[in-house]
Amino acid sequence: MRGTCRYVVGSLLSQKRVGDVEEQGPSGAIARLTQELVKLPGVGPKTAERLTHHLLTAKRSEVLALADALRAVVERVRPCRQCCNLTEGDLCSLCADPRRDASVICVVEQPRDLSALERAGTYRGLYHVLHGRLAPLEGVGPEHLTIDRLVDRVKRGGVREVIMATNPTLEGDGTSLYLSSVLAPLGVPLTRLARGLPSGSGLEFANSQMLADALEGRRAF
Ligand code: ZN
Repeated sequence: MRGTCRYVVGSLLSQKRVGDVEEQGPSGAIARLTQELVKLPGVGPKTAERLTHHLLTAKRSEVLALADALRAVVERVRPCRQCCNLTEGDLCSLCADPRRDASVICVVEQPRDLSALERAGTYRGLYHVLHGRLAPLEGVGPEHLTIDRLVDRVKRGGVREVIMATNPTLEGDGTSLYLSSVLAPLGVPLTRLARGLPSGSGLEFANSQMLADALEGRRAF
């Protein structure tokens, strides 16, 4: 019975061309799925439709597992109380690890930048995740980032170095500059990653050796 349904749905779609799914009406379940998928980064209309086809013909249990995983991420994941990295607990696994050096804080834009630095495998300090970068033209100001939390953290004491590891872009550099103006009066030594990372790109795209070198060769801000 179910095989027949899958065949019917599959053959229905296979006779249609890109964009035709939307003709079933914007409120139809299939069209809605395509419209949601196309919002994902790197997913254009053709890919969204291909993914929709795939999900319509995949095992019911697999599709429901995907839906469950999406719901779990939304409902359970939240920012770490200390570093604002994403976690399911109160503290992330890095902040909760007594082997990490809590006196060094590496400031990154996004959790994916943190992951890239962790993959490099040489850094033993903690992090602070800003969840963005200053972008005045887009209306992103200091109040939209976790800068206040970082300042509070440094003010609490015990921090002997803050490493600026924002992305080597105009906005990343501007964000570091702003942070230095806020943190310098607190008397904490500021450093930044060595140059040599591809300019205009993100840490997440740099290879591990490059990131390990950038950390190793960091210098006073
Ligand atoms: Zn944390």
